[in-house]
Amino acid sequence: MALAATLSGRLRAAKQELVTQWLDRITSRVAISSKRVFPTHELINHVPLLIEGIAGYIKRPEKDIDSRAPVVAKAMELGALRHAQGFDAYELLKEYEMLGEIIFDFLADNAEQIEEDIPRRSFLAVWQRTAQAIELIRQATVSHYLRLFSGQINERENRLRRFNRTVAHELKNKVNAISQASTILTESWVEDSERKEFEEIIAKNAESLRRVLTNLDSLSRTQADSRHCRNVLLPEAASEAVRELKDAAKAKGVEVRVADDLPPIEVDAATVELCLMNYLSNSIKYSDSAKGERWVAIEATVEGPDTEKDREVVIRVHDNGIGVPEDKREELFKEFYRAHGDTVTEDDSTGLGLSIVRETVESIGGRAWAEFPEESGSVFAFAIPARRFDDLRATEEAEGDAPIAR
Ligand code: ADP
Repeated sequence: MALAATLSGRLRAAKQELVTQWLDRITSRVAISSKRVFPTHELINHVPLLIEGIAGYIKRPEKDIDSRAPVVAKAMELGALRHAQGFDAYELLKEYEMLGEIIFDFLADNAEQIEEDIPRRSFLAVWQRTAQAIELIRQATVSHYLRLFSGQINERENRLRRFNRTVAHELKNKVNAISQASTILTESWVEDSERKEFEEIIAKNAESLRRVLTNLDSLSRTQADSRHCRNVLLPEAASEAVRELKDAAKAKGVEVRVADDLPPIEVDAATVELCLMNYLSNSIKYSDSAKGERWVAIEATVEGPDTEKDREVVIRVHDNGIGVPEDKREELFKEFYRAHGDTVTEDDSTGLGLSIVRETVESIGGRAWAEFPEESGSVFAFAIPARRFDDLRATEEAEGDAPIAR
């Protein structure tokens, strides 16, 4: 087994160099600077240990890699890292394919340099053990990744189930109100003056049902759309939302301002347009008629540390409207919650818009919240993860970096 020991030793000694080669190979595949796309320092912590584990296995094939081996823990951590970074399973498998290519190329080159007469069978045995070791750590990474992934899907399903329950409850209330009022209307004892009151209850609840259903319809469309993922640049999504609400803004005398420095990053059109339209229509609805100048402004920045993992696009819709009383701010994003239920009688208020925004952005790993400036008015914001390649490329190009070949 001298051959196995020699090749294992060389592999171990070359691990840093192999990691660099591996990163270079991934980088040239995705053709973007490795510094930005891959948090190299995190990989540099993981991958040499994986190579070390493979080298150990080549040398001592009689020792199985069991689930407690440090190399398995590292492989699982790599799965968790890639999950947090939004990699898909295919990308993960591709990374391993490239790692395999590099290790096998390295072993083939080194085997060529061995001058002693060693049976071919021994070379093949080393080859087989290497393949086995790579397979084992790949399984550890991918199965851990898939476990996290399915946990996330379960969580999302539970959230949707809760959302459905609340919506069903609300719809039932409205249908009950309609049904009770219409039963009463069939009674002969009802006075004409009361009749009008019950008719109004029916009309109000029917209208409210219609609005809730329209909202739900647009929510389901976004989710269906996002599977097809129509990506547009953020400034285009903002223009589209503004165009949709132009008439409503005009009717209320609200000036809609769009910052001219919106980052030109790619976003999912359906999600961003739905969120912006909800926020904008609220800013218009809850504008302050006492103010001479009424406005709403869309602003956005790419925020977070310069690692792909944490970067996000934060989009803010800022208005100088009536704001939200302090004691009502906490529940704003809850289904059917209306902070101005007693004071503002807007026909098209359902209390669903903000919860739909939150549901939609959270389903793609984002967040939604409100901020209240000292002066007055409100800022409704949402953040979505910065997409990994395309948006960074767009930002870099906009910043005047060298164009990136794909
Ligand atoms: P609604 O259909 O009632 O507008 P939303 O879920 O969109 O439902 O909003 C919930 C509540 O939050 C609204 O009823 C309103 O009280 C408050 N709100 C939302 N946006 C604004 C805003 N821009 N300014 C003031 N209040 C707002």
